[in-house]
Amino acid sequence: MNLETFKFEIDGDGIALATFDVPGRSMNTLTGKAIADLGAIAEEVAKNPAIKGLVITSGKSSGFCAGADLGELGGQGGGSAKPPANEEARLKAQFDSAYRMNGILRALETCKKPVAAAINGLALGGGLEVTLACHYRIAANDNPKLQLGLPEVKVGLMPGGGGTQRLPRLIGAQAAAPYVLQGESMKADAAKSLGVIHETAPTADLVEKAKAWVKANPNAVAPWDGPNFRIPGGAPHAGGGRNPVYTFAPAMVAKQTWGNYPNAKYIIQAVYEGLQLPMDAALRIESRYFVKTLMTPEARGMIRSLFLSMQALSKGESRPAGFAPYDVKKAVVIGAGLMGAGIAYVQAKAGIETILLDVSQEAAEKGKAYSQRIVEKDISRGKTTKEKGDALLALIKPSTDYSLCDGADIVVEAVFENPEIKAEVTKKVEVHLGANAVMGTNTSTLPITGLAKASVRPANFIGIHFFSPVERMGLVEIITGKETSQETLAKAMDYVLKIRKTPVAVNDHRGFYTSRVFGTYPEEGMTMVAEGIAPAIVENVGRMAGMPMGPLEVSDSVGIDTMLKIGRESAKVAGKSYEQNPIGDLVAWIVESQNRVGRKAGKGFYDYNDKGKPSQLYPDISNKIEVKVSECPPALKAEYTKRLLYRQCVEVARCFEEGVITDARDADIGSILAWGFAPYSGGVCSYMDLKIGIKPFVAECDRLADTYGERFRPNALLRDMAARGETFYSRFAPKGEKAAA
Ligand code: NAD
Repeated sequence: MNLETFKFEIDGDGIALATFDVPGRSMNTLTGKAIADLGAIAEEVAKNPAIKGLVITSGKSSGFCAGADLGELGGQGGGSAKPPANEEARLKAQFDSAYRMNGILRALETCKKPVAAAINGLALGGGLEVTLACHYRIAANDNPKLQLGLPEVKVGLMPGGGGTQRLPRLIGAQAAAPYVLQGESMKADAAKSLGVIHETAPTADLVEKAKAWVKANPNAVAPWDGPNFRIPGGAPHAGGGRNPVYTFAPAMVAKQTWGNYPNAKYIIQAVYEGLQLPMDAALRIESRYFVKTLMTPEARGMIRSLFLSMQALSKGESRPAGFAPYDVKKAVVIGAGLMGAGIAYVQAKAGIETILLDVSQEAAEKGKAYSQRIVEKDISRGKTTKEKGDALLALIKPSTDYSLCDGADIVVEAVFENPEIKAEVTKKVEVHLGANAVMGTNTSTLPITGLAKASVRPANFIGIHFFSPVERMGLVEIITGKETSQETLAKAMDYVLKIRKTPVAVNDHRGFYTSRVFGTYPEEGMTMVAEGIAPAIVENVGRMAGMPMGPLEVSDSVGIDTMLKIGRESAKVAGKSYEQNPIGDLVAWIVESQNRVGRKAGKGFYDYNDKGKPSQLYPDISNKIEVKVSECPPALKAEYTKRLLYRQCVEVARCFEEGVITDARDADIGSILAWGFAPYSGGVCSYMDLKIGIKPFVAECDRLADTYGERFRPNALLRDMAARGETFYSRFAPKGEKAAA
């Protein structure tokens, strides 16, 4: 056998050991070659009379297998925006390729010799599916990182290596639902009590124990190939078809996903249909739904953004090349408020010595207390130890003394959003910085080029925009001003990567990228309310479109008073009165006449309970605005969905045209991580490219502009892209990469 990804040996008792060990990788994934190797192994075990049985294990200390190689899968249809040249041929090729893995695993399962899996660490997706096709599974009980699960659903896919068929047959459809439908994973003990694995043992003993089982069970067959097999909990048609899981699962999925995730629907169909058939036919059913899933724009967008781009950006692929790595060891945070306190925590967590400055020692200490609370919680939940917690806290030095900043590698200023105060602290801290240090500001709205005027080294000055709560939000928007050097950008990215966040790079503009686009969502929602559409309809349509909150709840979270302030300032610049526009009138009314500023006050567009959760929409909104639309049939829902999502997308196109953002991956990842734009789409660009198509998007935006206003009017860039048949991923592909579409 010509194996590349497995080592294969046969011991004196005729037990073969296949050790999965993809060369040059720290973790095994099921590449095309690995699947081919597995096929060759299955064939050899079946036909070689000297082999009495097989044990499969992994040669990686990191685990058994992380699943399918999504990079390869993305190439099959996940990454490309181009419609297939020959749909039928492509579908057939994809079915054959999807079924290949199923065919090989089924051959292994029916090779008439016992096959055992010795699972030393995590086995996810295709990794778990390989083990499910073995007759016996034993997993390590001394590896805290061991997880078994089927996470495919989370990137728009479905298990395609028998997972939808074998797991429900092993433990019943109801018990399998959280793993197959929600992508949950289980530890070894839970897997044993559920019946997913047979035994646990220390890592060092796994292979020997698996071999012993193989020797003792020469006639092993899969339970479903044995006589009198019954699916735990019953087959779909058992009890006259009244098995409740098949009734409730589609309803629960619809409630959680609003029908936005076709993969969830296909998983249910594969389980329901497959479980009524023998395994061979069931696996073909699964492969058919797998192909259907893979071809959806949702799967293509999600694999590309949530897996491939996220990985690329989190590894710093968009960092400018040619600059030495910048290792931040000492950092200063100025302003120990909401943001500064969180930034200090994530820095210390990454092992960075942190000087946390504020106007008084008390304010600085208060900022450090934030880290103290997180650490205490983590210790109580067993997420960290006291020693590690103490070491983290010792890295944060709260103070008012700027001389402590001597020798710092980077500063992140997070004082009030006021250009004078920001200028003052910039001047004060720069006195203590070396010529190479980076001066960063966490401003959310003030142009970087303007703030850089206070700096003695504007080339070193950069926007480093965190999101709240800092310790939970994975994105950092890095903003280069007119004079910011590429070297400073590279250094800021190294810093962001060191604190384990995902950086996206944008250029200077009021609101930058994320705040500017995100702001259009609550604005459009409020416009709809001001037009007389019932607030409950607007909120529900927003959530059903896949946004994490309705636009009014978003306004409450941001603070309606802040919106009023910003709205009035912008109107003043434009020489208008804010209250002249319907949103301005509504916002001013709710803040000034009703004294409701949002979640922080417990009342805004919603009333909030004592846990800070919205309890009901403020009923008196109807005193201000007469409700003209109080029912929402499907056609209206579709129209309102377009208003809420297309409005954001048009703004994204403007950001590209103005050069605020230059890489489609940044735009997509930014939109999902910063404001939760419909994640099933893969982000704003993928939504336009794959889900809608640029040409129809432009036509529809023209119609929306004619109906609702110029804010929907497509810009010249969109028209040009539509005329040339381009997509965002072809026109704004990562630098140096060939167009993906
Ligand atoms: P905050 O009011 O919670 O904290 C500001 C802190 O700065 C206070 O502790 C204050 O005492 C301190 N401060 C004021 N003047 C100072 C000075 N001269 N020297 C040292 N410290 C001083 O504000 P925040 O929400 O943490 O916002 C800070 C910055 O981050 C602002 O620029 C804001 O726009 C930006 N930002 C905020 C958010 C958010 O969600 N709150 C998100 C991204 C960015």
